[in-house]
Amino acid sequence: MSSFNCELINKATKLSTRNAQRAKNSKFCGCFFCTSIFKSSAIEEWISEHPRDKHEFASIVCPHCRMKTVICDEQQLDINKELLIEINTRWFGKTKLLTQNVKI
Ligand SMILES: [Zn+2]
Repeated sequence: MSSFNCELINKATKLSTRNAQRAKNSKFCGCFFCTSIFKSSAIEEWISEHPRDKHEFASIVCPHCRMKTVICDEQQLDINKELLIEINTRWFGKTKLLTQNVKI
């Protein structure tokens, strides 16, 4: 894994929050929950983190799984399946693992 990917994976949840504006500069978006890749024009739903937020600060909702886990390919960011799976493992795989290891 490149250091760029490492940094990106750590920033993924930040990039997927309040990102409506980012989608406007992107061609493709990817969801790191269901790992689907879709055109930014396919986005139909956004959720405001705060009722007073302007639309450009809303979070994109994945058209496939309806989670707020969408990142955009702005700034030459290459959205591909492998990357989405890596992010998914980082954010969801590990959580699952930790939960399993907890002894009550
Ligand atoms: Zn999804």
